[in-house]
Amino acid sequence: MNKDVLGFINPELEELEQKGLYKHIRTLEGPQGAWVEIDGKKLLNFCSNNYLGFAADERIKKAAKDAIDRYGVGPGAVRTIAGTMTVHKQLEEELASFKGVEACLVVQSGFSANLCAIPSLVGKGDTIISDELNHASIIDGSRLSRADIKVYAHNDMDSLEQVLKSDLQGRKLIISDGVFSMDGDIAPLPDIVELADKYGAMTMVDDAHGEGVVGRSGRGIVDHFDLHGQVDVEIGTFSKALGVMGGCIAGSERIVEYIKQKSRPFTFSSALTVPDTAATLEAVRILAESGQLVEQLWDNARYFQEGVRKLGFDTGKTETPITPVMIGDAKDSLEFSKRLFDAGIFATTIGFPLVAHGAARIRVMISAAHSRKDLDFALETFAKVGRELDLIS
Ligand code: PMP
Repeated sequence: MNKDVLGFINPELEELEQKGLYKHIRTLEGPQGAWVEIDGKKLLNFCSNNYLGFAADERIKKAAKDAIDRYGVGPGAVRTIAGTMTVHKQLEEELASFKGVEACLVVQSGFSANLCAIPSLVGKGDTIISDELNHASIIDGSRLSRADIKVYAHNDMDSLEQVLKSDLQGRKLIISDGVFSMDGDIAPLPDIVELADKYGAMTMVDDAHGEGVVGRSGRGIVDHFDLHGQVDVEIGTFSKALGVMGGCIAGSERIVEYIKQKSRPFTFSSALTVPDTAATLEAVRILAESGQLVEQLWDNARYFQEGVRKLGFDTGKTETPITPVMIGDAKDSLEFSKRLFDAGIFATTIGFPLVAHGAARIRVMISAAHSRKDLDFALETFAKVGRELDLIS
């Protein structure tokens, strides 16, 4: 037999390239910060979720190094076999207290947290009711669960009620992102909770882009709406505002213990590494002490968003520091991003299939680490490129 069993790979990769869907990844030669270095060139960074500048914060780096000295680097094995380290317990306790929940379970990533929580709570014969723009990890967690998946129109409470009214089988679980990462809009969580109560459904919110950003001192979406104790499960990630890596599942003691006992990524995959855990703990402590960086983030977001709108750009539906600068045509948006890069700004274009056809945009991720001077430079550059491409007058 000399048939090339891998013969499908090259044509498929070529097809991705032709369709403009091939992912070319830039290499950073230093840390994530307000500025980054790529190919020897310094660029203003609008691509990272490092909302508070924690990714290279000196206090957080030190906490990770100190923890390595005390515990080493790796957790040894899965927690149910090798035991758990004090640092994991500390993070779970302090994070729970910060978020105002009874308990937290720390896992390896936000993606993993969704794969832990969803298939634990629902299975074959049950129903998931999911916002159409929910994150891929919610979609994959839902598929893994083998529950029936019903999708409602984005943030549309009539559509959600329509689904809830229909003949649904088994346990019902409504899932929504808290802050949607492509548009920066916020889920109407109080209405979701009300409908869940009315129709007897569990509620779960993925707060990946809300943690460290919304709520008092960045306590997240549940705090933002003052819904403490009313949302059954909160999913968090440490890879965005907290600047590190890891995920958590938060809620009542009862539900967190249940997920701990049932979930496969928790049972069969090793714990978060020591430096990640200790660094996240330090990030939570900094936030618990002061909301100053969160205020700075919002100040920067308001400044940039007002400035870019004054130039004549549309920033879509954003209610958060995620700033989509709407371009429309995918090719224009790609060209915009290239010209920004040449002028010293790292900001990616987002097009189909991440957003609808004709809704391509430059997604600007604002950070507390950006200075006024950085944002002024960005506004000048957006004005220049926008005029060159005839997108603004
Ligand atoms: N949920 C949402 C809503 C996200 O935006 C992301 C990250 N893109 C994740 C989960 C995954 O988080 P992590 O990077 O920690 O795996």
